[in-house]
Amino acid sequence: MNHKTTAARLKEIVDSIASRGWCPATGGNFSARVDRDSCLITASGVDKMALKEEDFLIVDFTGKTHSASKKPSAETILHTTLYSLSEDIAAVLHTHTVSATVLSTHFLDRDSIVFCGYEMQKSLNGITTHEDTVKLPILDNNQNIPALAEQLKQRWKKDTFNYGFLVRGHGLYTWGNTLEEAKRHLEGIEFLLSCELNKMLLEVRQ
Ligand SMILES: [Zn+2]
Repeated sequence: MNHKTTAARLKEIVDSIASRGWCPATGGNFSARVDRDSCLITASGVDKMALKEEDFLIVDFTGKTHSASKKPSAETILHTTLYSLSEDIAAVLHTHTVSATVLSTHFLDRDSIVFCGYEMQKSLNGITTHEDTVKLPILDNNQNIPALAEQLKQRWKKDTFNYGFLVRGHGLYTWGNTLEEAKRHLEGIEFLLSCELNKMLLEVRQ
């Protein structure tokens, strides 16, 4: 795909994600790999409900962009770190949802959330049964994004990062080997997080 086709497809996917209320108040950021060393990513501070194709900038994996008028999202370095960690990653989607925010904050003593018993786990690449165990790591939030990226790199060396991770009190990062797979992973994980949150609410009410 050339840049324009990739931008058009990425915009379609972000439109669909934003319409679900998963990136309120300009939150979230979205990218797609262009080649070995660069990606398209949403510009900083744009309303994801009103995105235009020119709101996607090309940045290389050192964070440089050639755009004079817009700057890339502050969290660009997390995207470029992921592309550098795995050449198979073709797209990275980051949302700010209530489920991801509440659950990652509730489990302050845990460094991951584990899903088991859900049919929706099969939306994740390589998971073939609800009986599998799916682990979603949690990183501690940090306004220093390079420090957060370093935390990701260190954790990547010793944990399983197949589909995504949570940033505590912040949101979800997920990815895929294609844009479509990244979207499927996002929808699947957000569904699983919502199930866990609703299950806990039911337990409180009993
Ligand atoms: Zn964010």
